[in-house]
Amino acid sequence: MEYRKWEKKDITTSLLGFGCMRFTMKDGKIEEEKAQALIDEAYAKGINYFDTAIVYLDGQSEPFLGKALHQYKRDTFYIASKYSLWNLENEEEISKAIDKQLANLQTEYIDFYLLHAMNKERIEKIKKFHILDYVKNWKKEGKIRNIGFSFHDDFSAFSELIDLYNWDFCQIQFNYMDKDIQQGMEGYQILVDREIPIIVMEPLKGGSLVNFNPNVAKKFKAYNQDSNTKWAFRWVGSMPGVKVILSGMNEMCQLKENIEIFNSFKTLSPEEKKIVDDVAKELKELVAVGCTQCQYCMPCPAGVNIPGNFKVINNHMMYKNNQDALWYYEYLEKKDADSTICIKCGECLSKCPQHIDIPTELESVTALIKEIRQQ
Ligand code: SF4
Ligand code: SF4
Repeated sequence: MEYRKWEKKDITTSLLGFGCMRFTMKDGKIEEEKAQALIDEAYAKGINYFDTAIVYLDGQSEPFLGKALHQYKRDTFYIASKYSLWNLENEEEISKAIDKQLANLQTEYIDFYLLHAMNKERIEKIKKFHILDYVKNWKKEGKIRNIGFSFHDDFSAFSELIDLYNWDFCQIQFNYMDKDIQQGMEGYQILVDREIPIIVMEPLKGGSLVNFNPNVAKKFKAYNQDSNTKWAFRWVGSMPGVKVILSGMNEMCQLKENIEIFNSFKTLSPEEKKIVDDVAKELKELVAVGCTQCQYCMPCPAGVNIPGNFKVINNHMMYKNNQDALWYYEYLEKKDADSTICIKCGECLSKCPQHIDIPTELESVTALIKEIRQQ
């Protein structure tokens, strides 16, 4: 197993971390026997970083993980868990959170404690409810050992958050296709410059980098027989500062494949890096609509989420992931913001710097979803 040392701390983590948010469920409950076998195999093969959150799997992930790891010596593995503050309405709720999480996890301390899925709105909550005072206090009491955050917003939110505290570590979405979104490379570089250890989530872009357009993937195949998954993991693991790459594994074959990759892990050579860059460039060229997600066309008077709909079709062209396209389109439908809501008023046309014929392109999105649903 590939391990990474944390320069400023006496910590060594397995580069492959176990994300405990995707265990299979039956009748609303985690399939515990199957999940326990996964945890046991992961531990036996040297994975020592287990990541959960109070909200994962309807609150079942933390108690399950506590039970699953209880048989092992506490100082032989690390637990990461998160405080999810989106429903937080008053300070009293925070004060009780940590003791509940420690009880769930059957432990006296959590090694890595994160403020979960931070964005602009939640940064305001951190300030309003003095959340940093609470977590700093828990660290002083020995209930948590390192304070970090996981992040899902843009660079301006990231810059504000990163200066709010002297963070021990940080968890970001990072893969070879997502260099320009969320914190982007600019945010990543700040972490490297400040020597803040990095935990990576979505290294496979929610599975999109496992199977994608075969005409593009053949560039990998022409070089060697490695899977697309291995290329994606190796790209992330070759980036300086990365200490853990999380994967939410729920099948034994998937866990075994990942373990094999990280058992013989090698950083990418300059030649291999160039191949990944070429693949990323070709995937991006497949986009159907030249929407840059700038939002200048918003709001639409009818309520259409214009860039959101274009994201559906563009991602589908790149990754050919029907499930992903449907999942996001259904989300837009629930919000009454999908492509069928367009009344063709034309108000958006003059606002788009890319001169996209928005109503016509929205029809292509509708047609794509219809086609997927008929398959
Ligand atoms: S043309 Fe359609 S998408 Fe554009 S503003 Fe009108 S309703 Fe919204
Ligand atoms: S203005 Fe044009 S490029 Fe910008 S989000 Fe809207 S459709 Fe996309």
